[in-house]
Amino acid sequence: MTHATGLKYLKNGCLPLMWCPGCGHGITLGNMLRAFEELDFTNENTVVVTGIGCWGKADDYLVTNALHTTHGRALAFATGVKAYNPKLNVVVLMGDGDGVTIGGNHFIHAARRNIDLTAIIVNNYNYGMTGGQVSATTPSDRRTSTTVYGNPERELDVCALAEAAGANYVARGTVYHGWDLKNLIKEGLSKKGFSLVEVVSPCPTHFGRNNNMKVAVKMLNWLKEKGVTKEKYAQLTDSQKDGYFIIGKLVDRDAPDYNTRYEEIRARAMGS
Ligand code: SF4
Repeated sequence: MTHATGLKYLKNGCLPLMWCPGCGHGITLGNMLRAFEELDFTNENTVVVTGIGCWGKADDYLVTNALHTTHGRALAFATGVKAYNPKLNVVVLMGDGDGVTIGGNHFIHAARRNIDLTAIIVNNYNYGMTGGQVSATTPSDRRTSTTVYGNPERELDVCALAEAAGANYVARGTVYHGWDLKNLIKEGLSKKGFSLVEVVSPCPTHFGRNNNMKVAVKMLNWLKEKGVTKEKYAQLTDSQKDGYFIIGKLVDRDAPDYNTRYEEIRARAMGS
């Protein structure tokens, strides 16, 4: 049995990638492309939509259709792509700054509309590309370049937001748990309706450095220790839960997606 490599979706000569040593984006990209291959996605029936940020560079490396958009607006563009041609596989790549801080409004409404696309949000708890500024997901008290003595705000739970807004599929993985991550992405891509895969990932250059995790391996060990299954999380006492987060599938439901509802209403309007 041959294992999917995903290499066929990479442009010739794109290596080395621009990401810093120890960044989790390469692992996320590799697992996404393996999932594409296992699902037989073609360059023609796939559109990768990106926003702005380090993860938003990913489409530069791909031979699939791609659309590089403005900061925080990737989901708005992707909604247009999917509404125009529902047959396309639309995959939207955003960071936590792009996806749920600047783009928080679009994120809520794409999930609420249940647009049939997959959002892969790499969460490294800060705006990496622009210098490590605080984002909506930066944990409370953590240091960033704009909260040098600690973040006074509470952090946003991306998965809880997607669930509350109505997403059909919600999952969280980490780049440490690569095999599981590929399977979660594959499941999200296969799901009809809005699917979110949050990928917790290191940014050793900014977030790690500012929080005394100076090397990537320290951040990976942190993901290994703190990312736990639902069952394991439930066994922790309230005082032990601090800093831990659940990984795996969190939501799986089958509400009708936007295009299905639109066609139903269109048929009603046409009197059929
Ligand atoms: Fe990755 Fe951070 Fe470097 Fe951006 S700044 S490429 S997120 S390590």
